[in-house]
Amino acid sequence: MSNTEQTLSIIKPDAVERNLDSEIKNMFTLNGFKIIRDKKIKIEKLEAEKFYKVHETKPFYNDLCEYLSSGPIIVMVLEKENAVLANRELMGATNPNDAAEGTIRKKYGISIDKNSVHGSDSIENAKIEIDFFFQD
Ligand code: ADP
Ligand code: MG
Repeated sequence: MSNTEQTLSIIKPDAVERNLDSEIKNMFTLNGFKIIRDKKIKIEKLEAEKFYKVHETKPFYNDLCEYLSSGPIIVMVLEKENAVLANRELMGATNPNDAAEGTIRKKYGISIDKNSVHGSDSIENAKIEIDFFFQD
């Protein structure tokens, strides 16, 4: 049975800054994702705080929001069978040091905070995050 889903992906400032956007987009398409929506933006810290609200009690929250708003990012809607889980797998573990070979974070991530990509962690959050960046 087909189970096409959409998920939100962000290429974070560290990767955009290193001009890795085409390589990372290629990894998505080579792995069977369709890039349905795609835009390069820079967000304000207040928007980053809203986006990462689930982490507001974490000690790294402030740095995380500073970081996401520190430079251009690319936000994308990805579509594939079981896209949410498939994207989490392709991204790899949050800490690039723990990420499996062949994952985006293993290949491109610099550190736990500069880990190159964001991906929604559930179908419910994917809907919320897609609406957050693509209202139209
Ligand atoms: P993921 O991005 O894998 O879903 P989380 O949702 O747990 O990870 O965290 C959101 C982001 O916050 C991570 O991608 C990472 O950039 C940052 N982060 C998570 N844990 C830490 C930490 N212990 N120290 C610094 N930054 C962190
Ligand atoms: Mg997360």
